[in-house]
Amino acid sequence: MYDPLFHQSPGCGERYPDSYWANISGQAPKNLGPLEANIDVDVAIIGAGYTGMSCALHLAEEYGIKATILEANQSAWGCSGRNAGFILKTSGRKPFAQMQQQWGEEVMRAIYQEMAEGAERVQHLISRGIDCDVQPAGYLKVAHKANKLTDLIAAAALQKKMFGYQVEILSKQEVRQQYMNDQNAFGAIRYRDGFGLNPLKLAWGYQKLAVDAGTDMYCSTPVTESRQSAKGFELTTPSAVVKAKKVVLATNGYTPQGFMPTVNNRYLPVLSQIIVTEPLTEQQLLDSGIKTNQVVMDTRALKYYYRKLPDNRILFGGRGAISGKSAKDPYYANRLLEVLKSSFPALETLRTAYAWSGWICMSLDDIPHIYQNNEQNLFYSMGYCGAGVSFSSQAGKRLADKVAGAQVPNIPLYTSPLPKFPFAPLRRVGQWGYFQYGKVKDRWF
Ligand SMILES: Cc1cc2nc3c(=O)[nH]c(=O)nc-3n(C[C@H](O)[C@H](O)[C@H](O)COP(=O)(O)OP(=O)(O)OC[C@H]3O[C@@H](n4cnc5c(N)ncnc54)[C@H](O)[C@@H]3O)c2cc1C
Repeated sequence: MYDPLFHQSPGCGERYPDSYWANISGQAPKNLGPLEANIDVDVAIIGAGYTGMSCALHLAEEYGIKATILEANQSAWGCSGRNAGFILKTSGRKPFAQMQQQWGEEVMRAIYQEMAEGAERVQHLISRGIDCDVQPAGYLKVAHKANKLTDLIAAAALQKKMFGYQVEILSKQEVRQQYMNDQNAFGAIRYRDGFGLNPLKLAWGYQKLAVDAGTDMYCSTPVTESRQSAKGFELTTPSAVVKAKKVVLATNGYTPQGFMPTVNNRYLPVLSQIIVTEPLTEQQLLDSGIKTNQVVMDTRALKYYYRKLPDNRILFGGRGAISGKSAKDPYYANRLLEVLKSSFPALETLRTAYAWSGWICMSLDDIPHIYQNNEQNLFYSMGYCGAGVSFSSQAGKRLADKVAGAQVPNIPLYTSPLPKFPFAPLRRVGQWGYFQYGKVKDRWF
């Protein structure tokens, strides 16, 4: 499997992974195919995930700027077509309490506001006609140990006080009787407005909106080299060269090593793994006590998350392999199935129907960065840390604002570049160390 830390390109025209989403979502909308003749453009966007497509859409609709998207494989071939489809009002991994401590209340509120706008933006775009199998609302953040409920209650209290966010607190019995009889759940907080959807159909919906608004989109068109001069950029693709005045890098965790000096050594691609089981029978649903389609995530350092899909399968996710070379080792999918069965012993005979993984993009400081170089002609948005389905729509809009020269809120997400990883060649060793620490923390503390 493509490994962004070792390979120079994510491929060219690669098919979608054999995921549940790729199997049930029908046909991708049409694009212009591979770019075959040289072109001159004002704005080139590299990468056709949510970030790139939202940026193109907002450039077209808010500023009348027509962008050209260059995608190495298919639209939403990266994370955007293979995630769990949880729409939450968060991004990155930094708790609000830490933001408050580090930057103060005003900045923390402004960051929350942007993340909330991300979730609202997705819903607004869906309301324009995207059919993406939206499920009933509700997000349960589950304590994986009794002592974790105290932390959850503190987080809920902060969010209620600071943002007026209505968060319910649920005891172990309430979770198990009203939502799902999860043997690893020791209480939860429930946000009323998180929900699950089909992430690939969402991305194809963005694609259609962006193309209808005038965006040109070329797939099977990897940018293999980029050169910058006083006049702008020259992007090399297999059959043509693109001259662009401005470039937006929307490649996130799929950015190849050494691709652009501006982001080199400033991100860590980490594999996240998903399994989707065969559909549960009525009896299995009864025996396991899974009554809800709401989205569920736990409090572990190495998180697990799940949801019941519209056809009664369970989607279950967590960390994957460390390197692309081991990504397809069945060990990682089997481990998820074992954890699922430890939560629901009644599902002992349940089997996995689909398993796949994808590269999320970690930043050193646990927040996403939407930034531009000094010359204001190279822009990027990266580092959602595995929580980018809703926020990438907002990040795309903010990228568009920046490209058009408009003001954006003065918050660290938009004013500071991705920090460099110290000892960057050893990032994977650090990741391995974090996994060991996480295992100990999740088991014993
Ligand atoms: C298994 C998994 C589960 C997840 N679940 C959730 C979830 O439930 N909720 C949530 O909020 N987030 C989730 N995420 C994260 C979320 O999917 C991402 O944050 C989001 O999709 C990022 O979108 P993007 O457009 O920035 O990048 P991507 O969708 O990754 O798109 C990047 C694109 O760039 C292209 N590219 C790279 N290099 C080049 C090049 N040189 N030339 C041309 N094209 C190039 C790639 O082919 C790719 O299509 C999950 C991620 C994974 C992997």
